[in-house]
Amino acid sequence: MSFRIKIMLGITLIQAALLFTMIWNSTNTLTSSHEAALLKHASVTTHLFASITQDALLATDLGVLENAVTQILNNPAIVYARIIGRQGVLAEGGDQQALTRPFRADQRYDDVNDGVFDFYSDITVANETYGRVEIGFSIRAIQDTINRARNETLGFAVFAMVVVALFCYIFATYLTRRLDALKTASQKISRGQFGDQTPVQGQDELAQTIVAFNDMSSRLQLLDEERKKSEHEVKKLNAELEDRVALRTHQLESANKQLEHISLHDALTALPNRTLFYDRAEQVILLSKRNNKSCALISMDLDRFKQINDMLGHHAGDLALQEAALRFKHCLRKSDTVARMGGDEFAILLPNVATVEDVITIINKIMRAIIKPMTIDNQIMTIGASIGVVLFPEHGEDLSTLLHHSDSAMYTAKRTQAGYAIFNAGTDKNDNAHTVLQLDLQRAINDHQLILHYQPKIDLDTQRVIGVEALVRWQHPERGLIYPDAFIPIAEKNGLIKFLTMNVLEMALHQCESWYKNNIHLSVAVNISTINLQDALFPEQVADMLKKFTVPCSYLELEITETAIMTNPLRSIENITKLNEMGIQVSIDDFGTGYSSMAYLKKLLVTTIKIDKSFVIDMDKNKNDDVIVRSTIDLGHNLGLKVIAEGVENMESWNRLKELGCDSAQGYFMSRPIPADQLMEWLKESPFGLKT
Ligand code: C2E
Ligand code: CA
Ligand code: CA
Repeated sequence: MSFRIKIMLGITLIQAALLFTMIWNSTNTLTSSHEAALLKHASVTTHLFASITQDALLATDLGVLENAVTQILNNPAIVYARIIGRQGVLAEGGDQQALTRPFRADQRYDDVNDGVFDFYSDITVANETYGRVEIGFSIRAIQDTINRARNETLGFAVFAMVVVALFCYIFATYLTRRLDALKTASQKISRGQFGDQTPVQGQDELAQTIVAFNDMSSRLQLLDEERKKSEHEVKKLNAELEDRVALRTHQLESANKQLEHISLHDALTALPNRTLFYDRAEQVILLSKRNNKSCALISMDLDRFKQINDMLGHHAGDLALQEAALRFKHCLRKSDTVARMGGDEFAILLPNVATVEDVITIINKIMRAIIKPMTIDNQIMTIGASIGVVLFPEHGEDLSTLLHHSDSAMYTAKRTQAGYAIFNAGTDKNDNAHTVLQLDLQRAINDHQLILHYQPKIDLDTQRVIGVEALVRWQHPERGLIYPDAFIPIAEKNGLIKFLTMNVLEMALHQCESWYKNNIHLSVAVNISTINLQDALFPEQVADMLKKFTVPCSYLELEITETAIMTNPLRSIENITKLNEMGIQVSIDDFGTGYSSMAYLKKLLVTTIKIDKSFVIDMDKNKNDDVIVRSTIDLGHNLGLKVIAEGVENMESWNRLKELGCDSAQGYFMSRPIPADQLMEWLKESPFGLKT
């Protein structure tokens, strides 16, 4: 039911109730006023009639009485009239039906049930009643009047109700039209259409509500616009975010790829690292197994790398490693893998090699490449490599065994100075040679397992031996003869080097003394390491040692590498000066591999410089080497020093050195380092006899 019908019905109902009350009230009022009037009229008429007829009654004049009755019946409102004396009815007239029924006086309007109001009046004279008159008044006219009045009121009421209802309807329509407008507006809002303004009429509460509503709608529109704007911005942000996420994802992917590359490659040389090497090796072994083929695994350790690092710093060390990595790569095919395993250790994986000879060919290539001098920070230096080789499946069927064996072979190569070694199950032990060496070295010194070999130094002019260089070896009870490159670095690391040097010095002086006593005048050169040279107590200890022997101090020569000197030039100058003052000869060993500055060279109280063998070994074939050797000789002479060349392996080099004016030479061409007793034999037999 619509709101307007409700208003209309409500008001109409209230109105109907009111009208009903009103009609009921007015009818009652009308009725009672008519009743009072009737009573008065009846009373007056009846008493008047009684008084008129009193005399005739007393006289019992029937004619008069009859006449009176007839007269009164002329009144249309009177239904009947009767005059009763003591003897009974004296005269009567009117409606027969009314006359025949028993008389009963009516007191009130409501007592009337047949339309006739019965009234009487006694005829009394001197308090004696002689009779009475009875009159019936018709109340039909009154009833008609009342009824008409009631009907008219009702009619008016109905009319009024209709009018009011109509008015209510119109009013409600007027009211609800604005409500409808509000309804439509709110429906629009509920559909999300904001900002519509509902027309405002008047200033009533509804008008105020509509104003408030319009205001709300406008605000909602503003909010909606802001929301849409924000939504747009959020969408834009989202799109940007998506773009950024996509970009980040892309960056992350490439970063991941880079990370993967980094995690599998060595940062310095860009070579595969240990992890990648193991992975590839596993795969190659698996493939070789499946295809019944063989492959080779090579372990490599750089020689003399430590010197570069100590001497020139880590930057130069890094450059040397990079250069070494490049050279290794150039010697290999794409399908081969060379990896940096850490420090100066490298490893190579050669898939599809059929024979040991194939591997040796490659190794020779590598060795030739690595020993070529490198120019690092404008300095020329040489390094070498010790190489251990294993073949799958001969030397092991799984990676771990193969790695173990290639390491053993590598230590054998270092120990024997053979450059490379192929794993030999008979001689190479499966344990980690390096670790064992570390543990054994202290015992080796105590148990006199260290021995000295002597290599003669020969004057190029006179072709006579002028002295020997003492080179230490380790006569290992199980591993046989171990060369210094395999254990000197260990001794330098664990601090045994001081002990070792004094031990060598003692043996060398002892030997020198024994020759001296036998009239063999040979000076002995002992190699000392960086740690000895930097030790402030070293000169004193040498002096103490010399005191134990009867050889002149000048028979002792100390070979100090250029690298050792340059590690701490001031301390070196100090110690060398002390040694020099004691009459000991000092020479700069491995000259050309360190980076002496002329300023320091001049201050060093040394007697000799020893050209490093890496320049000498190939000087007959390599023009550059020849140039270096020549200029080193010139430099030494200009500084007033003697120059000795080590690593003379052939007649050509010997002749060339002589031609260049070098003072003396040392090398396999004349003699390898040999034990003292063999040296005596050699001295007797060799064309380079003793200096006379
Ligand atoms: P170094 O002082 O340069 O010694 C010369 C090395 O060159 C020796 O190796 C010698 O056997 C080798 N050699 C000599 N002539 C030739 C040749 O014609 N061709 C080739 N290819 N090599 C030749 P060794 O005895 O293995 O010594 C290696 C290094 O170990 C020495 O190099 C020296 O630095 C160190 N060393 C040896 N003995 C001692 C020692 O008692 N104390 C210390 N601190 N170091 C030592
Ligand atoms: Ca030496
Ligand atoms: Ca040397």
